[in-house]
Amino acid sequence: MVGVGGGENGRDSSCRVAVTVKVICRRHGRLTRQNQAEIYLKVDQLVGFLCNLTTPQKRRHVENSVANVKKTNKGKMDQNRMAPCLQLPLDNKLLENVIEKAKDWALMHGACMRSRTNLNKDVLQFAPFVLLPSTFPRREFKKAVEIQPILNELVHKVAHDYEFLSSSLKSTNTVDHFTRRLFEIYETVRKDGITQPVSLGLVRSDIMLESTCSGKERGSAAKSDPYCCWKQVEINTIASGFGWLGPASGLIHRYVLQELGRMDMIQNLPENHALQGLCQGMLEAWKLYNNEKAVIMFVVEDVTYNICDQRFHEFELRSQNPNVPVIRRNLTQISERAKLGSKKELILDDMEVGVIYFRAGYEPGHYHSENEWNARLLMERSRAIKCPSIYYHLAGTKKVQQALAKPGVLEKFLSPDKTSVVKEIFTGLYSLDKDEFGDRAVQMAIENPGHFVLKPQREGGGNNVYGDKVRTAVEAMKDSEERSAWILMERISPPMQLNYLVRPGDPNNGCPPLSDVVGELGIFGVVIGDSEKILVNKQVGHMLRTKLSTADEGGVAAGLGALDSPYLCKSTNKIMLLDPSLQPDRWRSPGREARVASGGPGETLVGIDLCQPN
Ligand code: ADP
Ligand code: MG
Repeated sequence: MVGVGGGENGRDSSCRVAVTVKVICRRHGRLTRQNQAEIYLKVDQLVGFLCNLTTPQKRRHVENSVANVKKTNKGKMDQNRMAPCLQLPLDNKLLENVIEKAKDWALMHGACMRSRTNLNKDVLQFAPFVLLPSTFPRREFKKAVEIQPILNELVHKVAHDYEFLSSSLKSTNTVDHFTRRLFEIYETVRKDGITQPVSLGLVRSDIMLESTCSGKERGSAAKSDPYCCWKQVEINTIASGFGWLGPASGLIHRYVLQELGRMDMIQNLPENHALQGLCQGMLEAWKLYNNEKAVIMFVVEDVTYNICDQRFHEFELRSQNPNVPVIRRNLTQISERAKLGSKKELILDDMEVGVIYFRAGYEPGHYHSENEWNARLLMERSRAIKCPSIYYHLAGTKKVQQALAKPGVLEKFLSPDKTSVVKEIFTGLYSLDKDEFGDRAVQMAIENPGHFVLKPQREGGGNNVYGDKVRTAVEAMKDSEERSAWILMERISPPMQLNYLVRPGDPNNGCPPLSDVVGELGIFGVVIGDSEKILVNKQVGHMLRTKLSTADEGGVAAGLGALDSPYLCKSTNKIMLLDPSLQPDRWRSPGREARVASGGPGETLVGIDLCQPN
């Protein structure tokens, strides 16, 4: 409990801050759940900071921050948290100054988007970002990077297994019109005979740290320690964006840390060459197509908001090979102007298309009429190498993800050692088909809606159902076939941490309050091959996006999230989990710069644990 009282001007002498932080860390006692709920460490910090403020305006700002933190924590005090990479809050003047510079850096280096509310193609605004990189356990980051080639292999093999795709999607296809249409294209080209056996996969595996993993998931370390492992949210096989904005976020943070005089911290920002790697993949596919005159075509939405991300791919392609032209067309334009040549070459405006890179086509809204569907079929029939081919697209559906999580399925595609690695990253995934397993999942969702996310077969954010609405939705559909169009997924509980969210048009005078945020890391993979062999298989980089801890989804392009980048820290020391079973002494392992102040007799106030370089 934190009480704040004080004089009007908030100066030290008159600031009677009754800071009774009842984080009573008795040396040999254990924290109880009740105590835990009172651990407002950051509030403590903010209040301490408040004492030293000189102007009512500054004071109000910090009070707002406190209120914000309390609000975002409401009912969430049992959610674990990680320490931010720097001690917060930052001094107000410094904060204002560095935010202004960081915004300009983002604007002047293309970490931007077009406005959704006030679209003007001639105008860009910086993409929302968090001011500081988010703490991420190094060991888990390394694991995510290392596992990517296995996931690439899995996706590639699944995409080429017609039996598996068709049996996994059978029930869904009966009720989900969009997935059925995609599948029909697949069936059609299969019957015709696949013209282009090679597929290009530019995939992104999205993961979240799970703060409720048991100690045993960390290998040799003590089983009782709380620990963050990570779980896969999904794997994207179409329009896996942020190949530019991912690395750009790391560059913003590099600049911010420099401005804060913390050059020493930069070594903990991992290198990120996603853009180069993805474009190299496109060019490798272009080479396999084997026609020097062929172009690479980006299939784009009618209006592209995330324009910088896409254009930087285009610029990078030109820079890696200036002889390869890139064109951009939407599905309607393709339907009007594309045709097949005598050898099934895709000809568009007198150009031959060697590689098709889809940044659209993943949601029903992109297909305004039969024309756009015809365009998709035409491309699929052509000799062009598709990213993704229709079966790669289908392999990335949520229903297929759920089917892969069934016992004994991964083993069909991967060797035993790879299978066991991949199994670890799956969280509970359940079918809602009309059978006994589906009935059981329906029951679970109704009994415990907060533990699950309900997902339809859609991409691009904003389609899932969360919280109590899971129960309402499942109850409404439980007697209908429609439920086969959905899957149920266990909800991941990522640890929160503090950060400043910087958004265009923010009303806080360039000085946003501290917020509790959670992140989602995406690892990019490139895989090229056909049904017989894999020619290229690599991990090429990452992106991190972050949202308010209270938000269900965090798509940056959808305006809900913010660009972020990982700040790698040593797993064991850096994660401060407010777990009731955690011994207070563990928070203060040697070398940690914990803010410890003395409380009443026998009491210790424990501050936030700072992340140290490894
Ligand atoms: P989409 O294809 O629309 O991106 P996702 O499965 O990635 O669908 O879900 C969208 C967002 O919802 C994710 O980025 C994440 O923020 C949140 N989310 C999805 N699944 C889970 C989960 N199991 N636990 C917690 N959050 C989730
Ligand atoms: Mg997603």
